[in-house]
Amino acid sequence: MIKENVIEKFISLDGTVRVSAVICTSLIEEARSIHNSFPVASAALGRALTGAALLASFMKEDARLTLHFKGDGPLGQVFAEGDSDGSVRGFVTNPQIHVPSRNGKLNVGGGVGNGVLSVATSLPDEKQPYTGTVDLQSGEIGEDIAYYLFQSQQVPSIVALGVFVEPDNSVTAAGGVIAQVLPGVTDETLAHLEEQMKKARNVTALIRDGKNVEDLVREYLGKVEFKKLPETSTLVYRCHCNVPRVERSLMLLGEKELTSMIDEKQASDIRCDFCGRHYEVTIERLEGLLALVRATKEEDAKRPLASKSKNKKTYDA
Ligand SMILES: [Zn+2]
Repeated sequence: MIKENVIEKFISLDGTVRVSAVICTSLIEEARSIHNSFPVASAALGRALTGAALLASFMKEDARLTLHFKGDGPLGQVFAEGDSDGSVRGFVTNPQIHVPSRNGKLNVGGGVGNGVLSVATSLPDEKQPYTGTVDLQSGEIGEDIAYYLFQSQQVPSIVALGVFVEPDNSVTAAGGVIAQVLPGVTDETLAHLEEQMKKARNVTALIRDGKNVEDLVREYLGKVEFKKLPETSTLVYRCHCNVPRVERSLMLLGEKELTSMIDEKQASDIRCDFCGRHYEVTIERLEGLLALVRATKEEDAKRPLASKSKNKKTYDA
């Protein structure tokens, strides 16, 4: 039986290759439906969400990992966040864009374009997230993540991510395998993994053939023997937006922007980029937020210059 949305973990018998893998068709279909996205956007977001979830599964408890693809293609930005407990969420700036296919395949690279990938990891005991940035290699998501891992850890990784979208836009196969080599790995194992990566069938073809997670791992590990580890995590699409966070993001717009919203006498309807939930903020509440912004400003003005902190842009909506 195929357990959907359950990240399974494996390790090679010699302990030098660790693997996380998942079949997450229904989760990526849920993301597709939340964003009402068209095929290339669904594939880009689905690959990014799967990648973020798999990378987060290697991290310790309460850790969070974000993948932020900032390309110049028609999709705009692709953002995916994964927590080590299995929660994921994400968005694409322009989810309803048609990108012509390339060689009969979804042209994710063309949708994302040229730019950079920023990866941020935050651990519960560290105040500032650690961020690393690399140039996008192809915009195909998996290759870009593999390049990032190689740049940051100086070891090759296998990153295989796939999303299959039907002509009616629905997602009918999605999943991924990420394998990382650990210190002590032999040159033979490395060469073998490289060989496997070239000849392996893609993840969605395997899933559509009814293969399970272990079959996916075997396809990429080839002759490298491995065993399954007992720990698993279940993926869920979960957003942590709420009224205080929405109000905080409105306050970050600043005095001028808030004043013009109040002058226009329009109650604002804020839609969460991640989950589509709507928040209605009344004029009265906007006035209250404006008063708070002004009060904070006065407070700031009283402080000595050196302790003033600049507003930081966050995606924590
Ligand atoms: Zn939300």
